[in-house]
Amino acid sequence: MKAAQAPAVLANAGAPPARGREPSSPRGRGAPPAARTVALVMRTLARAIDGFELPAVEKIAERQKKDPFQVLISTLLSARTQDATTLAASTRLSQVAPTPHAMAKLTVAQIERLIYPVSFYRHKARHVKATCRILVDRFGGSVPATMEELLTLPGVGRKTANLVLILAFGSLRNICVDTHVHRISNRLGWVRTRTPEETEQALYVSTDSRWWPYINLYLVTWGQNVCRPAYPRCRDCVIRASCHQVGVTRIAKGTTA
Ligand code: SF4
Repeated sequence: MKAAQAPAVLANAGAPPARGREPSSPRGRGAPPAARTVALVMRTLARAIDGFELPAVEKIAERQKKDPFQVLISTLLSARTQDATTLAASTRLSQVAPTPHAMAKLTVAQIERLIYPVSFYRHKARHVKATCRILVDRFGGSVPATMEELLTLPGVGRKTANLVLILAFGSLRNICVDTHVHRISNRLGWVRTRTPEETEQALYVSTDSRWWPYINLYLVTWGQNVCRPAYPRCRDCVIRASCHQVGVTRIAKGTTA
């Protein structure tokens, strides 16, 4: 299952403009990126991620036919956890308890055993159990479809809520910002922010809404493969001409800044 399946956005976006037409000089502090720069980066990434593996939660959303419950649980498990581990743990858990009702009947210890070795598995098991209890008691066994209601669930922050709204409910009005999106948005020079929460709000201002549902998929895939936290592969990066490389001091060996 490859990331290339997702960019239906290409059909809407038209052909990417020639790279040489993009401005190459750095912008002033805090200036928003030009709309055409964002468009060029997004269109280029849509093509570049063709062939890369989908991020774990995207993969689960596809496999589970966008079941909001599976998207919610896998996103809860995914924090600070390798994709392969998230995928395996989510699969084990869904095979034993595919619904909120079934999950709410498991003990925390059972959930812990099923999701181990995801990071903070004890903490996450308590959140999964409590979340399922609330889904059953307050929401009739369904996952709510609003940010406000999602944020009432234990362990659910804006990142998880946004991803559920985008992947399970098809929202076009949300941006999901995780550590990859936060880091790359700042390196690109699209935002100058200190936290993912600030980045989310800044991206609503600095990017056209047509890109919002795709920002997470494109930047997470790029962040896992090229624009890695340490030693990004800048020389191999297809969006380098549009990137200000803010804060990048060391890149992957054998490449040049
Ligand atoms: S040029 Fe380097 S810092 Fe910029 S997006 Fe590419 S890998 Fe990341």
